[in-house]
Amino acid sequence: MKPSTRAWVAADKAHCWHPFTRQDQWCDGDPLVLVEGDGVWLTDSEGRRYIDGNASIWTNIHGHRHPVINEAIVRQLEQVAHTSYLGFANPRASELAGRLCGLFPSGELSRVFFSDDGSTAVECAIKMEIQFRMQTGAPERTEFLAFDQCYHGDTMGAASLGGVSSFFERFRQFGFPVHHLQGIEGLEALDEAQIARTAAVVIEPLVQGVNQIHVWPNGMLRQLREWCDRHGVHLILDEVMTGFGRTGSMFACQQEEVIPDFLCCAKGITGGYMPLAATLTREAIYEAFLGGAERAFYYGHSYTANPLGCAAALASLDVFEQEQTLAQLPEKVRLLGDLLTEMQQRCSNIHAVRQCGMVAGVELRQASGEPFPYTRRVGANICEAAREHGLLTRPVLDTVVLMPPLCIDSEEIKQMCLALEAGISDTLS
Ligand SMILES: *Cc1c(COP(=O)(O)O)cnc(C)c1O
Repeated sequence: MKPSTRAWVAADKAHCWHPFTRQDQWCDGDPLVLVEGDGVWLTDSEGRRYIDGNASIWTNIHGHRHPVINEAIVRQLEQVAHTSYLGFANPRASELAGRLCGLFPSGELSRVFFSDDGSTAVECAIKMEIQFRMQTGAPERTEFLAFDQCYHGDTMGAASLGGVSSFFERFRQFGFPVHHLQGIEGLEALDEAQIARTAAVVIEPLVQGVNQIHVWPNGMLRQLREWCDRHGVHLILDEVMTGFGRTGSMFACQQEEVIPDFLCCAKGITGGYMPLAATLTREAIYEAFLGGAERAFYYGHSYTANPLGCAAALASLDVFEQEQTLAQLPEKVRLLGDLLTEMQQRCSNIHAVRQCGMVAGVELRQASGEPFPYTRRVGANICEAAREHGLLTRPVLDTVVLMPPLCIDSEEIKQMCLALEAGISDTLS
């Protein structure tokens, strides 16, 4: 290990606290220190190169160190890095809000509220929803519907929607009232009183990421929109993971021609370069916050609409056009699907392959079909083994996630799949 790596690892173990991490286990091993990126590749402090197989925790879209995004950030930096959005406008935020609304040509989503992360984008939607109900004569609508095993972020409001009990159960009593549904069928079981108390339904459209890449049935989102319309319930779409091309279209909801009442974006909005989030909504919802100080939305963060983040987001949208990112996806999606299907045929431990666009989950089980004992950490061990073959990714339990930057080429897709297969056979045979 180089002396610089040794120093970084020592300082990490002495002072850092990582997200979603058992720090006792973390400190047993030596973490990789990532120092550089280029396209879909990342380089660690020892000079080893890896394919960024989970797009740096589902954020990266056009690859690392993309000249167009880098240049946009530098150009903005030469003007100013940050100015307050409280009391002031800024050019990049004005331009970006227009561009984001323009991604919905029918014009229903016409207002953008900026924040910093996926969690705050969702937090903001649910607080707007609650206040909207108070100000439009329906204060009894205070509850939310969400889905089993859903994930919407970690701030208290977003966390109260969460359906993964190991993350959220201990905080349940402190959050918003939420009723969890098994699936769309769960709506039928709701009684009138429950529906009358419901403000909104929240869902990750087309695919739940944290729920081991659970793909919803075709047409489910459309049905959910229709149910909401019949019952005066709003639809909040969490496109934090699915947005910006990840599922094959710019937004997942566009595949079922659904327009939500709130659309939450983050992760890929800046191409994965800066923390920035946006909550889009309709003019009619915005208008309920007009007409007096007591009706305003008192919410915000100090880095709201950060100009560097907005500049990166604008550049990322430019790259979508220049590189025809979406038009190139069907071929890549097909190749990834074909390779994973072939791998499943070769490998008796692959129980299922789930895929939605450039989001894939490879679920490992014992050859008998039984899950591995949790304590074997099979998913985690496979990902560690795959590093030796030049792939970085993470599992959700025993489902290994492949969600590369969309710019990945066919050669790199093949390399990524080979590295995963090598990691599986190193671990299980
Ligand atoms: C990652 C994620 C979030 C939370 O976003 P952060 O930026 O980590 O706060 C919310 N919803 C979904 C669907 C996510 O994938």
